[in-house]
Amino acid sequence: MIMKYKGIAASDGVAMGKVYLFEKINLEISKHTIEKDKVEEEIEKVQKAINDYVYELENREVSSQAAKEVRDAHIELASDPALIDTTSDKIRGELINSEYALDSTIKEMVMVFEMMDDAYLKERAADYRDLGENVMYKLKGVKPNTLQVLDDDYIIVSEELTPTDTSTMDKDHVLGLAMDLGGKTSHSSIIAQTLGIPAIVGMKDITSKLKNDQFIILDAIEGTIIVDPDEETVNAYKKKFEIIKEDKAIAEKYKFAEAKTTDGKELEVVCNIGGLEDLKTGLKHGARGVGLFRTEFLYMESDEFPSEEKQFEVYKEAAEKLEGMPLIIRTLDIGGDKGLSYFEFPKEENPFLGWRALRVQFDKVDIMRDQLRAILRSSAYGNVKILLPMVISVAEIKKVQEYIETYKQELKLEGKKYDEDIQVGIMVETPASVFMARDLIKYCDFFSIGTNDLTQYILAADRGNEKISHLYDYFNPAVLRAIKQVIDASHEEGKWTGMCGSMSSDSLATYLLLGMGLDEFSVVSAKIGKLKSIINNTNLAEAEKFVQKVLSLDNINEIRALLKDKVEEF
Ligand code: PEP
Ligand code: MG
Repeated sequence: MIMKYKGIAASDGVAMGKVYLFEKINLEISKHTIEKDKVEEEIEKVQKAINDYVYELENREVSSQAAKEVRDAHIELASDPALIDTTSDKIRGELINSEYALDSTIKEMVMVFEMMDDAYLKERAADYRDLGENVMYKLKGVKPNTLQVLDDDYIIVSEELTPTDTSTMDKDHVLGLAMDLGGKTSHSSIIAQTLGIPAIVGMKDITSKLKNDQFIILDAIEGTIIVDPDEETVNAYKKKFEIIKEDKAIAEKYKFAEAKTTDGKELEVVCNIGGLEDLKTGLKHGARGVGLFRTEFLYMESDEFPSEEKQFEVYKEAAEKLEGMPLIIRTLDIGGDKGLSYFEFPKEENPFLGWRALRVQFDKVDIMRDQLRAILRSSAYGNVKILLPMVISVAEIKKVQEYIETYKQELKLEGKKYDEDIQVGIMVETPASVFMARDLIKYCDFFSIGTNDLTQYILAADRGNEKISHLYDYFNPAVLRAIKQVIDASHEEGKWTGMCGSMSSDSLATYLLLGMGLDEFSVVSAKIGKLKSIINNTNLAEAEKFVQKVLSLDNINEIRALLKDKVEEF
């Protein structure tokens, strides 16, 4: 009998293949008392284990921003004196063995994070557990089970993969990932997304349902695993697979092509990045610039607010690497679901409607000053633009413009270079910014539509709540009409609109967005080639007619059906 199990799709794609049940070595930790004269020896053992782990991390190659973030976070956590000090105190005070003392220190730290309300900080408990596990392997002299070398292609099924597992796995042999636990925003999920490996998390007890080498289909678009599928299902998936494979081949062919419709409109196809590692990936995939630099990562991987100097170095390097192609840097969008370990956010009833993004910056002007000065200074080294998150009014843009003017004057007096004509754009991701688009565009240079937030705010449907995920859909006619209004408003003023939310990476939406007049697609790097292939085969005049048809519909299912038919033509 075919069995089907459901989870949460965390990284898009479909895989078919053999199961590899990945189990962790069960590290038995026993407790025993030690003689007083053994105390220093036990402490030294822990210190050596930490040092060995840090050494290993420092020599580890990383292939994505998220993997780099994991590595750097572990180096920082392991090097934090609190880890060795607390463990030493336990050994000294309670005369207990090093393993037990380390284990109890880690457990305490994990508990502190798990009890936090903030979703981001809660996820960091997994990082601490991961760190503890790795130091414990060193301390016990046990070689951990890893996914570093696989003898064949597999779908990895595990209770929970740690960020270390995913950032070090033999990715050429990993067809897909399935986990009992885990969240969409965990580091493991983010790594899977950047590597383009399909993943499903939150499958509850999938590890107990599957056996090694069992044949399964992992559909990380629907979020389902099909066990021992019949021939008909396999054939249907083979077809799906062929389409995905063809798409990949097309993407490969087009990735370095220019993006121009058959009737001559040139489009910008750029990438979203979280840091310099992602930029490397973007350029490799054919990005012609950066449409969204989410600077939050820079703040998250640090243990204090990054200084102007530190930020300047990163932005400057990115600007130089892009050699004149655009680098759109979004100012700090913190709050909502994104926290910082070193900054306490007030407890709020509705964090997504609360103190986030620009609102934080206005109240913490020092943070804004450091960042805007760093961005301005980097603008002397390339084609840098500023992007403001969560705008709801003209007054906000004017206020930021005033700050920018002040910082320009400061820099001038200090003899520091910057681009006098640096452009400032805004994210359109609130209903207010849609209604006010005609006014807002008069005070800025461009729009970038953030469909992730725009969809949740227009539809009053939390972007992270699984219970209502069926409502959260950017193909809802309300969202589509908003997007059209925004693009039209910018064009009436002779300005341009880009899109950096997930919708821009969705090939089902490309033809429609082209017809609506979108000028720039800022996407996840893996999608660049596919999008360019659609753009290069699109006749804009026909796409505009198609838009009229779609916008006349009031039903999502009909809209989706129409889009599906259309995308199959490409
Ligand atoms: C968006 O809201 O669409 C967006 C790009 O911003 P973020 O996902 O970082 O909130
Ligand atoms: Mg947003």
